[in-house]
Amino acid sequence: ARSAQQLAEYGRRHVTHGISRISSLVIERASGSWVYTVDGKKYLDFTTGIGVVSTGHCHPKVVKAVQEQAANLHHAQVNVAFHKPMLDLIGKLKPIMPSPELDSFFFANSGSEAVEAAIKVARYATKKQNVIVFQGSFHGRTIGAMSLTTSKTIYKTGFGPLMSGVHVAPFPYCLKCPAHYAAPDVYSIANCCNNSIDQVELVLKQQTAPQDTAAILIEPVLGEGGYVPPPNDFFKKLRDLCDRNNILLIADEVQSGFGRTGKMFAIEHYGVVPDIQVMAKGIASGFPLSAIVSKKELMDLQLPGSMGGTYTGNAVACAAAKATIEVFEEENIIDNVNERSTQIFSLLKSKLPSLIPSSMSVDIRGLGLMIGIEFINAPSGFVNAVMKEALEKHQLLLLTTSIYECIRLVPPLNISAEEAEDGVNRFLKAVESVAA
Ligand code: PMP
Repeated sequence: ARSAQQLAEYGRRHVTHGISRISSLVIERASGSWVYTVDGKKYLDFTTGIGVVSTGHCHPKVVKAVQEQAANLHHAQVNVAFHKPMLDLIGKLKPIMPSPELDSFFFANSGSEAVEAAIKVARYATKKQNVIVFQGSFHGRTIGAMSLTTSKTIYKTGFGPLMSGVHVAPFPYCLKCPAHYAAPDVYSIANCCNNSIDQVELVLKQQTAPQDTAAILIEPVLGEGGYVPPPNDFFKKLRDLCDRNNILLIADEVQSGFGRTGKMFAIEHYGVVPDIQVMAKGIASGFPLSAIVSKKELMDLQLPGSMGGTYTGNAVACAAAKATIEVFEEENIIDNVNERSTQIFSLLKSKLPSLIPSSMSVDIRGLGLMIGIEFINAPSGFVNAVMKEALEKHQLLLLTTSIYECIRLVPPLNISAEEAEDGVNRFLKAVESVAA
């Protein structure tokens, strides 16, 4: 048998160089909050495969549902027939949508595909073309979704021409707002002076007129761009702006959805209903499934045949998603998210500032278990060193963001109090040794 090192070498030789990877671990199995490598090492997982294994790795209920489904039906192509697992899943999804009006679904396999489906729906329904996105957003890697992505140039470099009609507004990011810098005690995220909605109005005046703008696409909490929640009143203003200008509001809940922020969908924190909601990742605890949902009247404007895909809404993935939602119900997952969130925030806020040099400061932000930790004035490479130290010395898996010197914590939503504390302590130790 090959050693772990040989297997990693084999991977480096035969898996595309185009993927960047935070480690050379070769994972063999995983359970709950832990992953196990081929050489018998055990790591605490604060990445959950980028927010995917919401119910922890291999939750027994999800495993059982998948096994049973695999024995009954793998695939029933959507252009051929309905299939029962998808209809059962819709029954579970309907009651948890941000509004009962959102009741017409299209399923796909990945977040990128679902984002593109949402853009197609918006363009066809409004008979307009342009889309406004926000700076620092990640919406996917296919050509259309990549054109809407503004979090890192590497996603697009050399791949043009891109999809046209994309216009970029600044994301309301209080930390980077001059007034916040001047008086951080006065202007917090909850009480923002930022003129961010004016910036969107300005895009409609300077870049794309309302009569050319089909949709505004936004992550309710900026994901890869640094786990930044907008100010509390931003979404109400954005909804109003969309309504006044006949523009559709598309919420990309791919990373923030399915309980991650302490409500089923992040947009619920802001009391707003989107016209189209995009979902993926946490929906099926690790199986490839994504979806968009809108009002029936909106989805029904699509011409029959204009939407589809060989594998969309795969039966086994639908069964995994149904089981995932049942786990949420049976195990009060959302309560756990809120409790662990309070626990982790208070541990970080009480312990982290004293571990870093006085020349640096730290912004600890986010919602629920979507926790961003930005080291301000940190030397370049600081968080990469923290990530490496956490991995190699403390067996903790961490992710960075596209913002320089920012770590994101993305633990399983059913992580225990002990594991949460354990993970934070491993992280703090890594910061301490890198900062020393
Ligand atoms: N939207 C958001 C907010 C995401 O975080 C991601 C993935 N990180 C995507 C879209 C794209 O999803 P996928 O990788 O499944 O195509």
